Amino acid sequence: MKTYMEKLKHPKWQKKRLYILERDNFTFCYCNDKETELQIHHLKYHKDPWEAKNEDLLTLCKDCHQLVTAYNPSPRSEEHTF
Ligand SMILES: [Zn+2]
Repeated sequence: MKTYMEKLKHPKWQKKRLYILERDNFTFCYCNDKETELQIHHLKYHKDPWEAKNEDLLTLCKDCHQLVTAYNPSPRSEEHTF
């Protein structure tokens, strides 16, 4: 049984992650910061990260991601994805 963090290294997730990054033009957050590391925010969680629907995934910079996660704590926020 793989952990969630291990699953995020799966080629299926890496491919989807890239798709989302390109769809969002490499940012979807309010700060317009082009320097900070980008992460993918899951609005809904699934057993496997690549099962998430594209509309449930958002490209956020690391700082905005932390803010969003703080305001919307999910049961799995401690394993939050990037
Ligand atoms: Zn941001």
